[in-house]
Amino acid sequence: MDYDVLIVGAGPGGIFTAYELMEKAKQPVRVAVYEQGNPLDRRKCPIDGRTVKACIGCRHCSIMSGFGGAGAFSDGKYNITNDFGGSLHEHVGKQKALELMRYVDGINLTHGGEGTRLYSTANSAIKQMCLQHGLHLLDAQVRHLGTDINYVVLENLYLELKDKVEFFFDAPVGSVRQIDGGYEVALGDGTTVTAKQCVISVGRSGSKWMEGVCREMNIPTKSNRVDIGVRVELPAEVFRHLTDELYESKIIYRTEKFEDLVRTFCMNPHGAVVSENTNGIVTVNGHSYEDPAKHTPNTNFALLVSKKFSEPFKDSNGYGESIARLSNMLGGGVMVQRFGDLVRGRRSTPGRIAESFVTPTLAATPGDLSLVIPKRILDGIIEMIYALDKIAPGTANDDTLLYGVEVKFYNMEVKLDENLQTQYPGLYVIGDGSGVTHSLSHASASGVHVARTILGL
Ligand SMILES: Cc1cc2nc3c(=O)[nH]c(=O)nc-3n(C[C@H](O)[C@H](O)[C@H](O)COP(=O)(O)OP(=O)(O)OC[C@H]3O[C@@H](n4cnc5c(N)ncnc54)[C@H](O)[C@@H]3O)c2cc1C
Repeated sequence: MDYDVLIVGAGPGGIFTAYELMEKAKQPVRVAVYEQGNPLDRRKCPIDGRTVKACIGCRHCSIMSGFGGAGAFSDGKYNITNDFGGSLHEHVGKQKALELMRYVDGINLTHGGEGTRLYSTANSAIKQMCLQHGLHLLDAQVRHLGTDINYVVLENLYLELKDKVEFFFDAPVGSVRQIDGGYEVALGDGTTVTAKQCVISVGRSGSKWMEGVCREMNIPTKSNRVDIGVRVELPAEVFRHLTDELYESKIIYRTEKFEDLVRTFCMNPHGAVVSENTNGIVTVNGHSYEDPAKHTPNTNFALLVSKKFSEPFKDSNGYGESIARLSNMLGGGVMVQRFGDLVRGRRSTPGRIAESFVTPTLAATPGDLSLVIPKRILDGIIEMIYALDKIAPGTANDDTLLYGVEVKFYNMEVKLDENLQTQYPGLYVIGDGSGVTHSLSHASASGVHVARTILGL
């Protein structure tokens, strides 16, 4: 066998598998990581706002792929909670899941994250204020690394690992198959590599690939949900009392009209709205820097509604993709609309956006989100904006900007045991690619857990 352990994907899941293997192995372990994207220092999105203004559909999106995975340019909000971010606790138990997340948090701190603040919802008066207005604040501790410190942590982890682990970049894995004593993976260039154990950590960008592997190897899966919504951008002052205390507040609202659940997601105080490309589909996201010099005057967050389908329809991601495609068709990418224009039933124009008191941090196409987002979802989002206005007056201002669409694709859930192992001994699926996690903390923790399982710890 070429290696003891072969890891597919160098996102947080893959990185922390490799880290823990190196850290805890009593005997030398030969570990290789195959990553379709680039090393961290060569990950550059070509959009510069001047010559390249919109997504040009690179072969591998530098925002989503490469060392650090989808998390590399993320806001680095490291949530320590079982309430959201994945269902790792359903496999490993609640206590252990939290312990693993805290362990990774400790590693982040010793690799450049020291001095960053840990926020907590415990004992917060904001919880009571939310409840008084039909809003529910979820419990969590959140470490805000920020895009800049998150990058430093990744740089340091790479420096520590690069001489102990063999990294292969621009090396997409084509297929995986079981062989005598282990696994063989075929690479894009036609060559093959073998290993005794294989850990697949391909994230959201590898969702289609993962589906193919499960199909070929008869690994059972079940369809997951898709979250659809918008990214809201408003003056940072409007949410200051929440973001100063909690940094990120995960708030859930049950709509009166349909009793649907709408939730806030990925809050970025003084942040920037960005576009992202998943398999050629451009959606919206956001991030912010820890460094005050890079702060913007705006805060952004997503408002999302989860959609799960019952038989016979299974393709929840396909549904989300179709909605995103529609917005790409009308807007050439991400679309932006003033809240005031949306409730008046008219499109936003470049003139109306230019006159707005909120300056957009992303150059998106002014348009009409009601032509893209299903009415039921949009009604829920509008209702929640009015509910949030009660705890953060100014949220329902005419100039509040809504970018669309934000879609959170979830990988179908792979059938795994308590060690995140498939029915094939030594074949593990972790991180967002497994459908079990959807966050930096859960994905990283799943990598540590599998590394310890491999080492028999
Ligand atoms: C803009 C943005 C902001 C975010 N902000 C936050 C945040 O603040 N907090 C939070 O908790 N989460 C955040 N997330 C989500 C978080 O980044 C992911 O949950 C996390 O990165 C998942 O880790 P992972 O290792 O499972 O997968 P990924 O990070 O997606 O890594 C998977 C890697 O596998 C590679 N790969 C895929 N297929 C193949 C193949 N066939 N062969 C070889 N390599 C392959 C990909 O190129 C990728 O690098 C954000 C995501 C984005 C896009």
